[in-house]
Amino acid sequence: MKFTVGPVEMYEETLKLRGEQIPYFRTSEFGEMMFRTDGRLKELIGCEKEGQIVYLTASGTGAMESVVINCFDERDKVLVVNGGSFGARFSSLCGIHRINHEEIKVPFEKDLEENMLTAYENAGYTALLVNINETSLGKLYDINLLSQFCKRNNMYLIVDAIGSLFMDEIDMKKTGIDGLIFSSQKALSLAPGMSYVALSKKLLEERVYDIETKCMYLDFKDHIKNFERGQTPFTPAVGICYELSNMVDRLYEKGIEKIVNEKRELASGFRRKVKDYGFAIPEYRLSNALTPVLFKDHAYDVYVELKDRYNLIVNPSGGEYANRMLRIGHMGNLKPSDYEELLEKMIGLYKEYDR
Ligand SMILES: *Cc1c(COP(=O)(O)O)cnc(C)c1O
Repeated sequence: MKFTVGPVEMYEETLKLRGEQIPYFRTSEFGEMMFRTDGRLKELIGCEKEGQIVYLTASGTGAMESVVINCFDERDKVLVVNGGSFGARFSSLCGIHRINHEEIKVPFEKDLEENMLTAYENAGYTALLVNINETSLGKLYDINLLSQFCKRNNMYLIVDAIGSLFMDEIDMKKTGIDGLIFSSQKALSLAPGMSYVALSKKLLEERVYDIETKCMYLDFKDHIKNFERGQTPFTPAVGICYELSNMVDRLYEKGIEKIVNEKRELASGFRRKVKDYGFAIPEYRLSNALTPVLFKDHAYDVYVELKDRYNLIVNPSGGEYANRMLRIGHMGNLKPSDYEELLEKMIGLYKEYDR
């Protein structure tokens, strides 16, 4: 069983679809399926009707890169929230593609607060890039704070919600998000291989349609043109398109509020228990997608033993937190009783080391 941040435990319906033949896709039936999925998906994420979702066969990083090359050019001065490895990735991407950028560094134990933004007010920035859940830490930045900052500074707001969408509340219209990035292998609980970028009308008109993208595969204009028929320019991960369609129907029936509430309860239930057992969790604002659990030591050993002895997979942490923090995921097909087992085994192993 996986308590990971992607790929995650899949649902039976998805597994069943994965066992079937992959249909041919240059058909009107495929196009119709994509249109239906697109309409429902737009409602779920609060994307305006005049907006567009681009369907990419790429991992999340491919979608992050596609946003940098399709939405920005030498006119822009971009602010990147860097509070962990995914923030650093946005920054590297801007560097590689020569987009003028500056980083707001957020220290480990801190939340992103109003005063960290003060220096960047009225300073000519045109966009803000943020991984709303910095998944390397499970830290959830305050979308309302960032939304207001972008509005009063007339900046585009680009949100990598790969580790957050369908786990935390996100709505493009409500918070003025111009670009929203998400992926198949996270909360959608599908196979890895596709990522999606939802774009606001404003960003489309003011940037995307205007920029000459120096990449054929990731050119949004080509994707948008092809989607007039419900198609993609190149062969997509067709199987995942079917998985997506099925999942979006199920999410749509449930409704976004219920989806997020269930996950919030799953996460908070686990957090109460893990604290009862004497573990600490960081003080910063947490995403419902995962819980970082702090260890005095031996976190990595516990991770290895959980995997090797019990086939229970959690996420270790990188760098200086390798031995001090495990990340326990809440995305995918997991229920409260799965966590009982995990906790019991985790405590047992920890005691073996903590003698
Ligand atoms: C998982 C994740 C990504 C995507 O990484 P890939 O390995 O390229 O799919 C990007 N950003 C965040 C915040 C993530 O959680």
